[in-house]
Amino acid sequence: RAKNSGGNQYVFVSNEISSAASEQSEIEAHMRAAFKDGGFEVYYQPQYSMNGYLCGFEALLRLRHPSMGLIGPDRFIPIAEECGLIVRIGNWVIEEVFRQAAEWKRQGLPAIRIALNVSPLQLMRADFSVRVRDALSAYRMDPEMLEIEITETTVMHNLEEVAKQMLDLAAVGVRFSVDDFGTGYSSLRHLHQLPITTLKIDQSFVQNICEDSSTREIVQAILSLAHSLGMQVIAEGVEREDQVELLRSMNCDQLQGFLWGRPQPADRVPALMSAQVRKFSAEGAFNRGVA
Ligand code: C2E
Ligand code: MG
Ligand code: MG
Ligand code: MG
Repeated sequence: RAKNSGGNQYVFVSNEISSAASEQSEIEAHMRAAFKDGGFEVYYQPQYSMNGYLCGFEALLRLRHPSMGLIGPDRFIPIAEECGLIVRIGNWVIEEVFRQAAEWKRQGLPAIRIALNVSPLQLMRADFSVRVRDALSAYRMDPEMLEIEITETTVMHNLEEVAKQMLDLAAVGVRFSVDDFGTGYSSLRHLHQLPITTLKIDQSFVQNICEDSSTREIVQAILSLAHSLGMQVIAEGVEREDQVELLRSMNCDQLQGFLWGRPQPADRVPALMSAQVRKFSAEGAFNRGVA
């Protein structure tokens, strides 16, 4: 359509740029207001062992906007990182998730591991580990129930400070996983110096795993590498039964994906937990129709 628009082409492009810019500043303003008016919401996506046991939840942040609806983190986290709000948001997420976990515990629900995503800008701060440890004790949360997801980028830029923060938290039992593993450029040498318990295979691999044999080879290599280093592997973005079958045959440890559960608002979590408990007592073992 740009081809025939002649003199209007520039106008068209500049409108598009300015509307993107105004959307960006609207999101920024809305994030600033959300700290006092509400607007951030944490969703929880279940993580399962290969035979269907619920083993944890990943906390995934959303931003509710009156006219834009529920905005996903891929849209607003980069803006937050750019405008300097990410650390404040990250601190809010830590508080909110620990508060929620304490509330579930008070209701008598089984303790379950919760994974948090953190930005590199959080982890490179000298006060990160102290803040997390303070929040753990304030909410009486067992450090072993917390998993922190880092990305390969986090490790690349600030290895020394990041390692310090991670080792300090690992010493009290906090677990760490590497998110979107296989898409970044982190060196195994670096990763191996860090207290990492889990690799999360990026969903782009899982998507093609049944169709593409070289993807399958890469995933198999990640699995053997992780296992030989004593790490566990979670496959992300599992949407089909054939992917489950294949990942199980490859000895993958856990999975997360729309097939077995989408991210849910916090009030749906207790039902997911007690459905599991009921299944255990009714059948002795959890069975989702898979072996
Ligand atoms: P991530 O940590 O890799 O999270 C997985 C993303 O994949 C989530 O998107 C999840 O909803 C989506 N997903 C899960 N299963 C499937 C599936 O079967 N198929 C497909 N197509 N997608 C699936 P979401 O919630 O939009 O989050 C996007 C990213 O935003 C996250 O990627 C994470 O990097 C970031 N993020 C989320 N919450 C936070 C947060 O509190 N702080 C920071 N710094 N980043 C966050
Ligand atoms: Mg994640
Ligand atoms: Mg991921
Ligand atoms: Mg991602």
